[in-house]
Amino acid sequence: MSECTLDDCFNLTQDKFCTHHLLSLENLKTGFLKWKKAYGRSISQKKYLTQLIDTENMSSGLYIQEVAAYLLKNKIELNA
Ligand SMILES: [Zn+2]
Repeated sequence: MSECTLDDCFNLTQDKFCTHHLLSLENLKTGFLKWKKAYGRSISQKKYLTQLIDTENMSSGLYIQEVAAYLLKNKIELNA
């Protein structure tokens, strides 16, 4: 067991992320696919993640926002 990859998360996990953040990552992947379907393929992942971590967008939830920020910071593709 080791700590979750996210800097401020100290939950122990056998995977890269703890269960909370792993679930959030899955939700982000699903959400991005829905977003692309709704707005067209021209919508970038960066734009998708940026609007999620917008502080006024409280509906996304803290775990989601933390994972979104991590993906943005490390330039990780949701579905390469
Ligand atoms: Zn975590």
